[in-house]
Amino acid sequence: MFCRLEGGKESMKRFNSFMINLKNASSMIKQLKNSVEKENEVASDICSENGKNALIIRNVVYGDSDSVMPLKKCKKDESLMGGFHTHLSRHENDGLDIPSLSDIREFVKRDSHIMCIGGEKTKKISCYTRKSGFSKDLVNRQVKRDIGVIEKMGLELETSEDVESVMNEIVNSEIRKVNDIIKEHFIKHLLWAEETKK
Ligand SMILES: [Zn+2]
Repeated sequence: MFCRLEGGKESMKRFNSFMINLKNASSMIKQLKNSVEKENEVASDICSENGKNALIIRNVVYGDSDSVMPLKKCKKDESLMGGFHTHLSRHENDGLDIPSLSDIREFVKRDSHIMCIGGEKTKKISCYTRKSGFSKDLVNRQVKRDIGVIEKMGLELETSEDVESVMNEIVNSEIRKVNDIIKEHFIKHLLWAEETKK
């Protein structure tokens, strides 16, 4: 149940210039499963041997229920390409295999090439890579502006009588903004989806 990858061949999945083998993909699937069980987010680093494009998962770390701090380290002769982490379902609209605005901000800050996210609710792992012509400055500006808008909406929470609906509005608005940024600047690759029983 945890071994079939979406698309690609059985033992290897390719996206853009990257490759990931079954062992490393399975590591992410296992991390998602453990993360859900422990109710804590999990993160790991995605490395590649210098000059090669096969991705290697390193340094699995556990956080709390809504954040986790990756180690951001690779072995000697490897480069840090990006990271994997999980999103748990705490609220109605949580647990998606899409990044948050701060995930995208972090991606740019770390000069990443790949970001993989496992969603508890969607039961999927998706990886995001840069579109050709990716501009860090452009993405940065867009994220900064969007975070500003979301934070402003957050101020309403203090005076609102219906915190739940304002919260939902904020989450939905962030999802829309993230999807816009993804569409414009990233390529989304579905790595794994839980098979549904027929
Ligand atoms: Zn995240």
